[in-house]
Amino acid sequence: MQYQLIAEQEKFRSEVEAFLQTELPGEVADKVRFGASVSKDELGAWTKTLNAKGWAAPNWPQEYGGTNWNLVQRHIFDVACRQAHAPQLSGFGFNMVGPAIAKFGSSAQKEEFLPKIRNADLWFCQGYSEPQAGSDLASLRMSAQREGDEYVVNGQKTWTSAAEHADWIFCLVRTNPQVQQQKGISFLLIDMHSPGVTVKPLYAFNGKRLWNEVFFADVRVPVQQRLGEQDHGWTVAKSLLGDERLLVSRVSENKRILSLLRSALQAQGDRGISLPQSLADEIDAIEVRLQALEMTSLRILTQADAGGQVGAEPSMLKLKGSQLVQDQDELLFRLVDYLSLPLDRVGADTTAPVGPKFCEYVAAGRYHHRGYTIAGGSSEVQYNIIAKQVLGL
Ligand SMILES: Cc1cc2nc3c(=O)[nH]c(=O)nc-3n(C[C@H](O)[C@H](O)[C@H](O)COP(=O)(O)OP(=O)(O)OC[C@H]3O[C@@H](n4cnc5c(N)ncnc54)[C@H](O)[C@@H]3O)c2cc1C
Repeated sequence: MQYQLIAEQEKFRSEVEAFLQTELPGEVADKVRFGASVSKDELGAWTKTLNAKGWAAPNWPQEYGGTNWNLVQRHIFDVACRQAHAPQLSGFGFNMVGPAIAKFGSSAQKEEFLPKIRNADLWFCQGYSEPQAGSDLASLRMSAQREGDEYVVNGQKTWTSAAEHADWIFCLVRTNPQVQQQKGISFLLIDMHSPGVTVKPLYAFNGKRLWNEVFFADVRVPVQQRLGEQDHGWTVAKSLLGDERLLVSRVSENKRILSLLRSALQAQGDRGISLPQSLADEIDAIEVRLQALEMTSLRILTQADAGGQVGAEPSMLKLKGSQLVQDQDELLFRLVDYLSLPLDRVGADTTAPVGPKFCEYVAAGRYHHRGYTIAGGSSEVQYNIIAKQVLGL
């Protein structure tokens, strides 16, 4: 099957590539290319560069700084950014709470938050999961009791990524425990510096601070910081992903890893390490799967741009894309082997590398990407959706 970009789309891609070539700092691109962490300052500076060009928030309505690109253009932009090794902007601000504020926010909320998110002057994190509420999110228990013009919030969130860097957190809270679960939830924007908010780190097994627990003890939140109606937070939460639900195939990220795989194969051969032919065959098989994923993704995006209904497609794309990342990681790790291990721990940036540059973050990337089949709806949950919506089970 062939999917070719039309001339107009090619022109758009060239324009994006030219911008990236001149504006993206080389040292940042190098970090992204090899899978190293980009600092908050570097990410903030890149966000500001994109914002100055008007490209920071492609998926927002145009009146709030969006680009008015269709889904295929956004896919092209994403792939070009990834291929140039640009860092990904904060998904919490740009893909989640930003579009939700644009849709459900009061004028004051829009004025207060949207320009600051767009320019990386204010960072959000996401407070959904709780110790007893993950896949079954509607069972969440963190409570917000109304007292006059304020809510008094008590409870705990967990697995909160980047809370240590965030100024604000968007939370789902229970405002009515008497009604059906989904109907008693509200959506609050909470200042992380409010009295009663405590952040504690959660470390992954290699010592890296991947998440946090966030505790709320009698935190007073003004009613004006509620997004949408009281008890209608579930509607806001469901809308968060919007069109973005379709941009989950990780095609661009898979391309980055495939290019590392090819470099690794070449470099190990150059070092005189004898590798079985089957490894090269496995990489070819990965590339075929990636091409199929990209074609399928573009076909679905094109249909959605033309007004087609979206059903279980996001689940299919997420399943295939996240699985492909993990399969590539495994293959890359087999190729690189011990060369990646010395740098796989906290503080490892000061350790002298023992192998070529592209090996350094292979193990760390492999561990980090395990989360792709859990976060944002686990694979089992995606299978359930497909079973129901496609197979009618
Ligand atoms: C890297 C990473 C970053 C994250 N960042 C954030 C964040 O910033 N903010 C936030 O709020 N949360 C975050 N999360 C949490 C994430 O949303 C939850 O881990 C996810 O929703 C799953 O919930 P859980 O961990 O409670 O697992 P559970 O829901 O308890 O699931 C445990 C296992 O049971 C399976 N399972 C559950 N229900 C079903 C079912 N109905 N049918 C079949 N199998 C089922 C799951 O697939 C899983 O394998 C993050 C998670 C990861 C991995």
